[in-house]
Amino acid sequence: METITDVQTMQQRCLAARREGRRIAFVPTMGYLHEGHLSLLREGRRRGDLLVLSIFVNPTQFGQGEDLDSYPRDLTGDSELARSAGVDLIFAPEARDVYPPGYSTYLQVEGLTETLCGRSRPGHFRGVTTVVCKLFNVVQPHVALFGNKDFQQLAVIRRMTRDLNLPVEVVGLPIVREPDGLAMSSRNVYLSAFERLQALALVDSVRLAVKRVAEGERSAEALIDAVRRRIEREPDAATDYIQICHADTLEDVETVDPDSVLLLAVRVGGTRLIDNHYLFQEV
Ligand code: AMP
Repeated sequence: METITDVQTMQQRCLAARREGRRIAFVPTMGYLHEGHLSLLREGRRRGDLLVLSIFVNPTQFGQGEDLDSYPRDLTGDSELARSAGVDLIFAPEARDVYPPGYSTYLQVEGLTETLCGRSRPGHFRGVTTVVCKLFNVVQPHVALFGNKDFQQLAVIRRMTRDLNLPVEVVGLPIVREPDGLAMSSRNVYLSAFERLQALALVDSVRLAVKRVAEGERSAEALIDAVRRRIEREPDAATDYIQICHADTLEDVETVDPDSVLLLAVRVGGTRLIDNHYLFQEV
């Protein structure tokens, strides 16, 4: 395994690998790896013969007052985990090389980015699509793997890839959870012990909604109310959004069907957590 920080070097290596007929599988991350990231890497290992991991805390997807500076970082620990997952190349560029002075090109997917996290984090997806497109151009992957944890992000990246005819197969993989159900996230380290307990309200409320649907409830409004009441039981939880959307369009639905996904973002103490699940599938 090798770690490359230089953008040009990385692109040359990947172009050469393609010329040699190697199939490049790519997992973009912001590092501080956990089992969720490792599940993507393992699938990438199966799907490609050159497995590339990028670790880059992308400044353009953070808003003012968000956690760019405090975002957890551990390149040494990440390298060990990456090696054990069979990564061939880690790409860990510096922000000043990804966005050199005079940088002025941004990519915007319309529509899909105007709801959910896009509404509460203006500019976030513009930063995400810009960096993912740049990373695709550097790494030249045949296949790129993303987690359903960031459901809207995956929908936006699929749309960008389709709209721009990028020759990349985008694969989405299930949310990996802690044994008690909390969706794994690098940001979970921010939670105090009491907040960590309260954070279970997210998965609890998802389970509650799935159960109600199994019992016959079809009203999105009634389900959202039930979720909200469960979240509000926690003293330090503040709802950012609770929505039930069509999985492809991300438009709000009134009556749930097998394409309906419950998506929620909740601030627990100072930490913003997200979760989601198809309402007709068991958690
Ligand atoms: P991040 O480092 O948080 O930007 O995430 C990098 C990739 O890992 C994204 O495609 C995420 O959706 C995915 N990911 C993060 N957490 C999880 C999880 N708990 N389960 C599955 N995938 C995840």
